[in-house]
Amino acid sequence: MKATVPYYPYAAYQKEKYGEKVYKIPISLPVTCPNRDGSMGINGCDFCAEEGAGFETLSSKKPVKEQMEENISYIGKRYGANKFSAYFQNYTNTYMPMKDFKQYMEAVLDDRIVELAISTRPDCVSDEQLDYLKEYKRIHRKNIVMELGLQTANYHTLSRINRGHGLAAFIDATNRIKQRDLEICAHVIVNLPGDEDLDMIETSDILSALKVEQVKLHALYIMKNTIMGNQFEQGELSIISKAAYQRRVILFLMHLSPEIAVQRLIGRAPKENSLFVNWNTSWWKIRDEIIAIMRQENAYQGKRAKF
Ligand code: SF4
Repeated sequence: MKATVPYYPYAAYQKEKYGEKVYKIPISLPVTCPNRDGSMGINGCDFCAEEGAGFETLSSKKPVKEQMEENISYIGKRYGANKFSAYFQNYTNTYMPMKDFKQYMEAVLDDRIVELAISTRPDCVSDEQLDYLKEYKRIHRKNIVMELGLQTANYHTLSRINRGHGLAAFIDATNRIKQRDLEICAHVIVNLPGDEDLDMIETSDILSALKVEQVKLHALYIMKNTIMGNQFEQGELSIISKAAYQRRVILFLMHLSPEIAVQRLIGRAPKENSLFVNWNTSWWKIRDEIIAIMRQENAYQGKRAKF
């Protein structure tokens, strides 16, 4: 673990893996989600807005290659980047017929792309897709990261927010992905209503025991015209304080295996159409405050890790 921050940062993980920083370029596909289109549910997760869980993406109407070129050109120039990860970010990027899935994955075959990061629900990853990705990795020598939304290990909370899957689906997907030697980045929302510190400790313990490679932590943000948005406007939903969020992140990190890279301690969130975003504080300030508290208290990732 790098000594610069008291956790294993994603940048250090990338440096070890690729020799330099790899920039994620978001690719938006014209897909939806089984929890929105009626095959599993209609309203989606209680926090999910119309555009799905991703934002900052180009229109999904643009061909994938065009999105890729545009983003590589912009990010490449801005940061002097050479290597990129094609990040299929929005909605459920495995929810489509196999022939479409193959076509999208093949559209990003390019020497500058060293990794595919595919965001999806844990209950929506087929063995056929995973077998294909295993071969894709072998033939094209690209790293494959499945970005799985777990959100919390508390299956009562998952049920309450209409997630449509429980903890077992995540464990099952993780096992099947690992059998193919692909990587997993688990997404976690640290402060879902109803969750307590203990739920995040358990989530951290489970992710450590399952040996996922990466985690990405988010604070819940509330968008207009969502179920949670309506609850928030009617005063039926309260959000823990920034200090409580930071304390919970630190507990999570202390229980997390030091082998797991941390992509983020808090996500960026859209301001437009939002009712609550990151306590009106920039994400990097919240991150810096967490790091300062950890240093002050000699807290570090893995300090209480059991797995
Ligand atoms: S799984 Fe993702 S895209 Fe689907 S409803 Fe939930 S947050 Fe939205």
